[in-house]
Amino acid sequence: MLHEQLGISSIAGLAQACGEGRVAVLAGFGEKTQEKLLAGIRNREAYARRHLWWDAFSVAEPILQGLRALPQVRRAEHAGSLRRKLETVGDLDFLVAAEEWAPVVDWFITRPEVEEVTAKGETKASVRFAGGLQADLRIVPPAQFVFALHHFTGAKEHNVQLRQRALARGLSLSEWGLVPSGGEGTAKAKAGALLGTAGAAAGTIRTEAELFAALDLHEIPPELREGLGEIEAAEQDALPRLVEADDIRGVFHNHTTASDGRNTLGEMVAAAQALGWEYLGIADHSKASFQANGLNEARLRAQVAEIAALNQSRRGQIRVLAGVECDILPDGRLDLDEEALRALDYVVVSVHSAFSQSEAEMTARIIRAIEHPCATMLGHLTGRLLLKREGYPVDVAKVIDAAVANRVAIELNACPQRLDMDWRHWQAAAAKGLVCVINPDAHDTAGLEYYRAGVAAARKGWLTKEQVLNTRSLAEVRHYLQACRR
Ligand SMILES: [Zn+2]
Ligand SMILES: [Zn+2]
Repeated sequence: MLHEQLGISSIAGLAQACGEGRVAVLAGFGEKTQEKLLAGIRNREAYARRHLWWDAFSVAEPILQGLRALPQVRRAEHAGSLRRKLETVGDLDFLVAAEEWAPVVDWFITRPEVEEVTAKGETKASVRFAGGLQADLRIVPPAQFVFALHHFTGAKEHNVQLRQRALARGLSLSEWGLVPSGGEGTAKAKAGALLGTAGAAAGTIRTEAELFAALDLHEIPPELREGLGEIEAAEQDALPRLVEADDIRGVFHNHTTASDGRNTLGEMVAAAQALGWEYLGIADHSKASFQANGLNEARLRAQVAEIAALNQSRRGQIRVLAGVECDILPDGRLDLDEEALRALDYVVVSVHSAFSQSEAEMTARIIRAIEHPCATMLGHLTGRLLLKREGYPVDVAKVIDAAVANRVAIELNACPQRLDMDWRHWQAAAAKGLVCVINPDAHDTAGLEYYRAGVAAARKGWLTKEQVLNTRSLAEVRHYLQACRR
């Protein structure tokens, strides 16, 4: 209709027609649809400039390793939001300490992935990769490296706060160095004079830990450098000891070919065993997710029996836990009867339908599901798909309170496109006693690896090992699951 009646043949044309109100008057469209289209177009423009952290990391990591392997390179790191492990990344920033620049620049701009060299100088270069991701390379003298690394890693707010802290101590902090304040540009001039030599401008500061120590701070992990209270915490030695990827001993929310997964139960179990985990939970979809071939009560019972037999035949190996990702129906009831749910080790409850409910309806719906005696964990709280779809409206604070009150864990869905519940909520939520569970929501064996993206987001949320359920041993997890039965 848009094409036939309004002659629209491009996104720009659609935006213009919406702006002029010509879409709203079409039969079946209306003001609301026109607004939604406009919002979608605006999102699309914003999303086009950013990339999922997981995707950006997979491009950046081999380049970083390649840079480090060059004979001229002393140190190399990626910086920016990639190093801070933000859920989406704009450009890549590579920072290199080297005494000879030309071979490094040449290597960088001749990578096969490079589609276009957008800038090239003596100590820097900018390129665009296939897929649209852009990357900057900066080469600095070794003595300046740590200051540049810190400068190009922190979010603006973090850097502003740290510079103020330096000033309060009579020091000037910049990408060039840390020097007595007063002489503006002193560090830059010094660094320039010392180009190619080590030491001096930086004094004895060679690591970020030493840089923070020079400002009377404990070292702040890159993930926390958002300007959200980490400097105060570092001052009081109150920084958390963040959860690490190696702490994870199993995961709960994964799919098999029984619903919409691409690998069989046996294949998923073998892949989890290869990761060295103690347990793997299977949580296929329930019947309301018919498009995902969700399981009804009978098929679920059969899967529970299959898992029990598998555990019998594989004694001493990874333990398979039987769960389900049970749909939360639009009114908040669960999709499966209580008898079927009680036969499981745990129940993930998730919203997969009726996204257009109001915030009040959605919040009440999710809380009703949390209050179900069989609910163990809440899946992907907002349903967002990063760079694709905003989450549905929901009162996160109320849901967190209900989860704590009912001893229901909230998932940090580790699928790189979800990372939901968002890291920004976790510090406060965990302080209220909320238990986090990092789940890859794997739909194939490769998807199990997503737990790493979940750990990255958990670190951004200040979470410790103790606050994440699946850092616990199998025995502890089974005890937990029994204890939260109501
Ligand atoms: Zn789901
Ligand atoms: Zn799922």
